[in-house]
Amino acid sequence: MSSPLALADAQVIGTELAIRWEGGRESYLPLELLRRNCPCALCQGESSATATYSPKPKNYSPASFVVRSLQPVGGYALQIVWTDGHATGIYPYSYLLSLAEERAPEG
Ligand SMILES: [Zn+2]
Repeated sequence: MSSPLALADAQVIGTELAIRWEGGRESYLPLELLRRNCPCALCQGESSATATYSPKPKNYSPASFVVRSLQPVGGYALQIVWTDGHATGIYPYSYLLSLAEERAPEG
C-alpha cells in the first residue's frame, strides 16, 4: 500500500466500531478491545525502552466500553471519548488497522 490510510467513515454499531477506509476496505473493532488497547499515556503507563513494562490492573466499568463520541484528529487519527469520561485516547489509523488485523488476520 503506497497511499496513506484515510478514513471514509467511522461509526459505532452495537458493541463494535465499524470503520470504512478510503478505497472501500472495512474494519470492525470491539469497543472493549479498543478501550483495553487505549494508546494514551494514562492507560499504557510511562514505559521506556529499558524499563520493564508491568501492566497495572484498571478499574473498568461497563461505561468504560461505551463510546460517547468520535472525533477525527488531524487527518491521521481518531479520538475516542468514552462514557466514563476517558477522552485522552487518540488512535492513529494505522494502529486501528493493526488492531483489526491482529484480530482477524488475512491470508
Ligand atoms: Zn487511555
